[in-house]
Amino acid sequence: MTAQIQTHGNVAVITLNNPPVNGLGYATRLAVTEHLAAANADAAVKAIIITGAGKAFSGGADIKEFGLPTALQEPNLLSLILAVENSAKPVVAAIHSVCMGGGLELALGCHYRIAAPGTNVALPEVKLGILPGAGGTQRLPRALGVENALNMIVSGEPVKSELLAMAPGQKLFDKMAASAESLAAEALAFAQSVADARPLPLVRNLPCKHPLGDAYFQFARNMVGGMAKGYPAPLKCVAAVEAATKKKFDDGMAFEREAFVNLMWTPESRALRHLFMAERAASKIADVGADVTPRPVSSLAVIGAGTMGGGIAMNFLNAGIPVKMLEQKQDALDRGVATIRKNYEAQVKKGKLKADKYEQRMALLTTTLDYADLKDADMVIEAVFEEMGVKEKVFKQLDAVMKPGAILASNTSTLDVDLIANFTKRPQDVVGTHFFSPANVMKLLEVVRGKDTAKDVMATVMGLAKKIKKTAVVSGVCDGFIGNRMIEQYSRQAGFLLEEGCTPQQVDKAVEKFGFAMGPFRMGDLAGNDIGWAIRKRRYTEKPGMKYSKTADLLCELGRYGQKTGAGWYDYQAGKRDAIPSELVNTLIADHRKTLGITPRKIGDEEIVQRLVYSLVNEAAHILQEGIASKSGDIDMVYLTGYGFPIYRGGPMNYANEVGLFNVVQAMKRFAQNPLDDASFWQPAPLLAKLAAEGKTFQ
Ligand code: NAD
Repeated sequence: MTAQIQTHGNVAVITLNNPPVNGLGYATRLAVTEHLAAANADAAVKAIIITGAGKAFSGGADIKEFGLPTALQEPNLLSLILAVENSAKPVVAAIHSVCMGGGLELALGCHYRIAAPGTNVALPEVKLGILPGAGGTQRLPRALGVENALNMIVSGEPVKSELLAMAPGQKLFDKMAASAESLAAEALAFAQSVADARPLPLVRNLPCKHPLGDAYFQFARNMVGGMAKGYPAPLKCVAAVEAATKKKFDDGMAFEREAFVNLMWTPESRALRHLFMAERAASKIADVGADVTPRPVSSLAVIGAGTMGGGIAMNFLNAGIPVKMLEQKQDALDRGVATIRKNYEAQVKKGKLKADKYEQRMALLTTTLDYADLKDADMVIEAVFEEMGVKEKVFKQLDAVMKPGAILASNTSTLDVDLIANFTKRPQDVVGTHFFSPANVMKLLEVVRGKDTAKDVMATVMGLAKKIKKTAVVSGVCDGFIGNRMIEQYSRQAGFLLEEGCTPQQVDKAVEKFGFAMGPFRMGDLAGNDIGWAIRKRRYTEKPGMKYSKTADLLCELGRYGQKTGAGWYDYQAGKRDAIPSELVNTLIADHRKTLGITPRKIGDEEIVQRLVYSLVNEAAHILQEGIASKSGDIDMVYLTGYGFPIYRGGPMNYANEVGLFNVVQAMKRFAQNPLDDASFWQPAPLLAKLAAEGKTFQ
């Protein structure tokens, strides 16, 4: 049963019991409705309490029911809330820990509410591109006041119950319990105290006005519209709350319902819901179940105190895990530690980190030049130069000193993790942990599973990723893993666009208008154009037949590596990041075109975006087919968290699904006709071709 009923004297207590957060799925709604009817039918019962077992009152909708028909099956949430309101006996919500979304809407339908301090209270629907659909926009403003309610509905952020209880004139909580522990007893006493009180109070009957009326909502629309970044839901939230102040309750409910249904169908909401599900799914590995026990990791070693090593170390220091950094020379260690200090000091200066916390974190950091000092570490992450010879030396030394069972991880971005594992006598303990730069900031972590990597190593690293607040996505072993393998094709295509007639700023603008945080050329300047150059040089020998634009090589031959050299595809002023279009670069591109005998043509934004995004999609389809990624949502997570793909488009795979794979393939066929492009580039991956032909989508 997903909800139980028990009587205590003349009070019936209905306890939601649907772990982990008492989601209001069909079975739970049905059970509560039945218990409610039973309590009403029982002459000995004078009052009813609804509460939640375990870690929550209720977290709202049951995510296991997302998109399934049972989500709407009667009794739906609206009907349940109506049944609560219509109960002839008083219903008291006893709220603790988590009271969110539908959970809060259910509580608002109860006649009384008593809350434990420390409860996180929220209507987070806006984060999924929708609005509360079971009266939240109509009842919360009545209970909490228009402004406070609108802030909660538009931000979706949780607010602690004790803060809400201080809101002037609030009717959200009739009583605050002294503590979570005393909630049950206090709720019981409260229910008994109101058992005979009539009429039963209903939030729907409370007045709902803002003293400034229209002027306030004009102001709210301006504010929210400015921050909504093209998402439709926040402004709809304002409109729904405004309706609460202007319409009769039932008309306001109808307004909310219509807005809710319309928002459900927007591509933005579909993308956000996809992201929500994909993020959860990414943390699960099909063959690594809950029965696999992770290894304990309470200390870490990092080899290499350079750009990545320092950032990686910070993640663990932030999580309270001691880190020992190893370098070959003292001055490299000193530089690494100084950079970490500088990063923390900048955070302290900005008020983002308290000075004592900074000291606590630094106290967890130690350094060494001697591998023998690493023998007690539970895990080591290597971030030395990207050369197989160097990795070999390091892993052989680690194999010699690390204790049995220690996890040996490499931060390599391109090298074969299986080869690295074979430098040791314990390939089952070796894994790739591909952080993104800056490693202390970027959310993405590609966890590279080697052919021998043990399941408990995977479970450990996925758990650690959560601890250091990363979004971990599992990748198989291949050159570039998921993200960089795809970006290589995107960069190739960006090169062809330059040859055919675009300028870097035109390409960047089109892509940024599509919603990317940064176009390919600004991104190249940020990451360093020399990185791509090194990869291309390798490819020229590895894959001599592959077509590349040489424009980027010419740029690098001038030493224009990007921001770090003060010049790349753009010019930069000292200490500034603003990309200034470069006459010199545009001339270089035009001259190169002439050498190739190309007459430039004007290329529209739509073609630019399609060619770049579909180049990602096609490579991703290969990646999926080869099993490098196990599901398309994982690929989307990589691009949303590591490559600035627009969130509201839900990642390249979700976007392709939205466009329709048939249309994607049709466009690719058109691009293949372009003699200046590369026909083989646009050969649809077999999986893409198959799904398109069958009218299916990426899963
Ligand atoms: P880096 O040059 O900034 O730092 C490498 C550090 O390793 C240097 O401080 C060097 O002194 C030290 N080192 C070299 N050989 C060593 C050895 N034998 N023992 C101990 N220390 C040694 O390089 P980085 O950018 O931090 O890259 C490190 C690794 O991370 C590479 O494998 C790279 O491919 C990968 N990576 C880099 C990025 C990035 O954007 N920079 C992103 C993801 C992954």
